[in-house]
Amino acid sequence: MKEKTHSFERIINGSEEDKQVASDTLQEIYDSKSGSFEGYELEKTPEDLETIRIVESLVDKKVSECGGKVKSVPIDHIFILKLGSIQKITNGRLVGGIHQPMGSKIGVERGESQLLFASSIAHELFHSKSYKAARIGKSADDIRLYRSGIQMYDMKNPDDKYGEEKSYFGEMEEAIVAECTRKLLNELSKEYILKEETEAVNILTGWMTGYYRHMGIPEDQINMFEMELKYIPNAQSRVKQVIAFSDDEKKRQAYAAGMFEALYKQKRVEMVERYRERTKLYKILDKLLVDSGGMFKNREEIFNVFAKANFTGNYLPLARIIEKILGKGSFRKLAEEFSEQVEKII
Ligand SMILES: [Zn+2]
Repeated sequence: MKEKTHSFERIINGSEEDKQVASDTLQEIYDSKSGSFEGYELEKTPEDLETIRIVESLVDKKVSECGGKVKSVPIDHIFILKLGSIQKITNGRLVGGIHQPMGSKIGVERGESQLLFASSIAHELFHSKSYKAARIGKSADDIRLYRSGIQMYDMKNPDDKYGEEKSYFGEMEEAIVAECTRKLLNELSKEYILKEETEAVNILTGWMTGYYRHMGIPEDQINMFEMELKYIPNAQSRVKQVIAFSDDEKKRQAYAAGMFEALYKQKRVEMVERYRERTKLYKILDKLLVDSGGMFKNREEIFNVFAKANFTGNYLPLARIIEKILGKGSFRKLAEEFSEQVEKII
């Protein structure tokens, strides 16, 4: 028997034989090339390979800190795609990157920015390295995704079309992955391969926030802007442009802010992804913090409990804490509040 390398930790339902058949099927899907990326692929440059290596080692470090099993993603399971490909592949449902859990493949678009590319790789790798469980449906050939991280697919109705089942905590998985990616970006900025671009983005951000402070924008809004801004196109050459514009710091700040505003209107800047889901998560983290009566010191500590559940697959410690703080039945209620019912590309 061949050794299993697919990324599923568990298969549920069915007899032991059914599970073996299902595991072999998952292995076949894992070993086969994904057809959906055909025609969109770009060749990986040495720089891309280096970026992937750096990002993956940081993602693995985080997964391991959360108690998750570190699963390697072979390089031929990572697809670099032309800009705009994901929108075409998913009929407009997703942009930038995609994770295909059944075969453990990811597809990420690459334009001129290594920073955006690295960020998308991190996001999709976090999805890919989350805990995975499959379930057997009507027969051993009917194998479906059951768990991807904290997300759990509803199995009440076996007639639900594959990939259209309701997913409990679906938005939560996105929020956790996006939050882990946001944090990883700070670490990534220290890596030589991204240093130049991130430094330029930081210099521009410094000018802009200087201008906003001067204009009397409240400090919490400025902090949020700094936290959320991810990417400015051609940041390095824009820094040079601002420096050439004037020697006066105030004039530079105003010029950079004006430039940013124009780019923002043209939708050419990027903020950290999944703002809606993350805000929903922050709200619940803050509520738990306030109601915990000192059990937690900060938002971060509670977030780590969620992240652990996501990467280990073990709900129990999280469920216990939530029920203890918010009362009986609150874990189930939360799973419902963060549920999703969208057709997904698997
Ligand atoms: Zn995602």
